[in-house]
Amino acid sequence: MRYVWDFAEHDETSLDHLGARGRMLSTLKQRGFPVPPGFVVSDVACRRFLEVGEFPAGMWEEVEAAVARLVDGLPPDRPALLAVRSSPPVEMPGILGRALHVGCDEAAAARLAAWHSPEFAAQVRLEFLRGVAAQRKVPEHRVAAVAATAPGAELEALERDVAALEELIVAESQRPIPDHPLEQLREGIQAVFASWDDAVPHRFRRRHDVSDDLGTSVIVHVMALGSVGSDSGAGVAFSRDPRSGEPRTAGVFAPGEAQPGALPHYPGLENLASDHPDNYAEVVDILCELEGMTCDMMRIDFIRERDALWLVEARPGERSSGAGVRIVVDLANAGMITRQEAVARIDPDSLDDILHARLDAPGAMPLITAGAASPGAAAGEIVLDSAEAIAAKAAGRPVILVRRETTPEDLAGVIAADGVLTSHGGPTSHAAVAARGTGTPAVTGANNVVVDVAAGIVHIGDTVMRSGDGITIDGGEGTVYAGMLPLEIPQPSEHLDQLLEWADEFRRMEVWANADTPDAAAHAKKLGAEGIGLARTEYMFSGDRLEVVRTIILTDDAKERTRALEQLEELQIADFERLLESMDGQAVVVRLLDPPLHEFLPDRREVDAYLRNAAPGSDEAAELRELLVAIDQWEESNPMLGLRGVRLAVVIPEIYRNQVLAALEAVRRRLDDGGDPRLELMIPLVGSAEEVHLIRDMIDEEVHYAGRQLDVTVGTMIELPRAALTADEFALESDFFSFGTNDLTQTTLGISRDDAEEAFLRTYLEKGMLRRDPFTSIDRRGVGKLIETAIAAGRAVNPGIVIGVCGEHGGDPDSIDFFESVGVDYVSCSPPRIPVARLAAAQAALRHGIDA
Ligand code: PEP
Ligand code: MG
Repeated sequence: MRYVWDFAEHDETSLDHLGARGRMLSTLKQRGFPVPPGFVVSDVACRRFLEVGEFPAGMWEEVEAAVARLVDGLPPDRPALLAVRSSPPVEMPGILGRALHVGCDEAAAARLAAWHSPEFAAQVRLEFLRGVAAQRKVPEHRVAAVAATAPGAELEALERDVAALEELIVAESQRPIPDHPLEQLREGIQAVFASWDDAVPHRFRRRHDVSDDLGTSVIVHVMALGSVGSDSGAGVAFSRDPRSGEPRTAGVFAPGEAQPGALPHYPGLENLASDHPDNYAEVVDILCELEGMTCDMMRIDFIRERDALWLVEARPGERSSGAGVRIVVDLANAGMITRQEAVARIDPDSLDDILHARLDAPGAMPLITAGAASPGAAAGEIVLDSAEAIAAKAAGRPVILVRRETTPEDLAGVIAADGVLTSHGGPTSHAAVAARGTGTPAVTGANNVVVDVAAGIVHIGDTVMRSGDGITIDGGEGTVYAGMLPLEIPQPSEHLDQLLEWADEFRRMEVWANADTPDAAAHAKKLGAEGIGLARTEYMFSGDRLEVVRTIILTDDAKERTRALEQLEELQIADFERLLESMDGQAVVVRLLDPPLHEFLPDRREVDAYLRNAAPGSDEAAELRELLVAIDQWEESNPMLGLRGVRLAVVIPEIYRNQVLAALEAVRRRLDDGGDPRLELMIPLVGSAEEVHLIRDMIDEEVHYAGRQLDVTVGTMIELPRAALTADEFALESDFFSFGTNDLTQTTLGISRDDAEEAFLRTYLEKGMLRRDPFTSIDRRGVGKLIETAIAAGRAVNPGIVIGVCGEHGGDPDSIDFFESVGVDYVSCSPPRIPVARLAAAQAALRHGIDA
């Protein structure tokens, strides 16, 4: 078994063991780029080390021989300090350990002093010790307390720091610092191997779905010294601008430094170009050659050591999401990559950054972090109820609606608000779904937010704020900030439009939208929606109409109920007409009423609070008390599994019939106006064939009575395991199945979509017992199996049945990949996710090898 390869000698068999960085440096060395002499230690050795706590037999001897070869190749007066760096199989930038200035013993210090200056030698020793302190986990503040001298200080001060730091490290770690360069190297390699198991890399791997079993290779190379006087220096350069993606060399060069430091962006390499034009030209040439080699935007880290330029790292450059899109489009237009490759390279989720406002406040500290429910940043005054949000919007003031949770009653408030913050509810809670549907940034499930509507106060973490105070939320990060922070508003991107056009060429599945209002539908259409896969009709029961709905629910008087139903029908006809008009010629799936009826009644806690404030004995108090009785009557201890969905139509048939009549009338009016309405009616929360028969018969009857043949399709929403398992029993009566994966996940896993995030899902995720939130990304093995079963059963009985997905998973790239693999015909998602879904669907089609 071989464990060590010099940069200059790797071959096909060793490639798998060099890690990403090692492979790149070795390739560049072999192609004649100015890479310092070095070698790579295999990841196999790391895995062995992590298992048994020591290097595998023979590895160390190979390392010693490789070091001897390195030192032999150097000019006699050149100090041989080594850098030890990780080279994991996938990029984990800056996350694993490293050891620099290794080999800094007394002899090396004397050489360094002779080569440059005694101060330089002391500074190098100090840097070496700082590295050892970090590897041995000496707390940073202790190191800073004894060794705070800045570079360029007097020799005496530097030497004092060296002595103090040595003493601290030995005292803290109870181990001497090795004198011998090879022993320093041994400790350095061990430290990098061991860092694989540190907490931060663990978290990174979890997040990026990298296996814990891989381990890291290690690179050892001669250190290029960028701090040998002001003539030397360190730099980072990109072949294209990492912020904008423009095709120009970008970067930074810091003279007299070993590390150029972290910059929020890269201003340019003007100083290198003017002071060292040869080096600048070399950098530009290297970048150009690298781009040609890799067909990607590249970043290099380089050191100018006196006159010589050394390339110490090369990798695909990090870039903003917008730059990423521009770069692949430019590369494809230049013929360097194919359009498929351009489409495949972009992470669909990164489009959120391009499409939504972002915070422009570097360094701002959030008050709290909670559920990232709907992307985008928003700043505004706190308002605690929807009416206030609507009034503020009308007055032109930006507002953030802060609620315990939202109900359909709040929909108009959610639409009016610039952002939404709730203390309860996960990614499929009403607030999250409504916010995504309207493109409103939202943070939900913030259990350290306490809203006191009656007092006009909200506690956000430890901070107490009042209605009217400014706050900012970032719905992509789930963060909340005090004050109204500056925002960066997204700009239209012709490169993104181009990329999405290409994606459409490769995609098989259609992308529809979950849109409840004509405005949302128009927005969805602009973003490329090919139909509405879910119009949640409960929005029609909100705002002023709530009173009418409440009458229907609460009255005992049959006449009053009929009047209220007629009134509601008229209102709904107008809504349906406008929705059908906005999607003329495209499918509009109208879902019959779904939520538990008591959701249309006011929040019990709030009524209670108002009652406490009402004058005893007043009419207001009496009315409030009556309302409380009604609320109690409809209250269910488990409403999600209660009287909702199709069950409503079994118990109170008038409500569905009323909706069907309104929808059919809207179709008739659209036809009379010369339109092309494509109404599809959908029955929610079906659990048995009998329920489908009942509603289908009612719809067919109404279509028949309508007097002329209306072309209306009827579909079943599959949201319960029983529906999935018995789908063959109602497939013939279903023109389509639409998987409501929010409820299907809830009912299959037996986990509440409203409460689970705060209660325990986060802990499951942190403990690695769940890889992803099942309400965000489909649980393939459980829910996925039910979906596959239902599709097979449905198609066996009704081969022409159309299969859609309208849960939130319809906008999640990983879930979209699954839906492609099981032959779903369309996914329907909230309008802001449409570009993401278009790209993800194309990638899924390319991955699964289906011809577009
Ligand atoms: C679902 O359950 O997936 C669905 C789309 O319906 P809702 O979210 O409205 O319950
Ligand atoms: Mg549902």
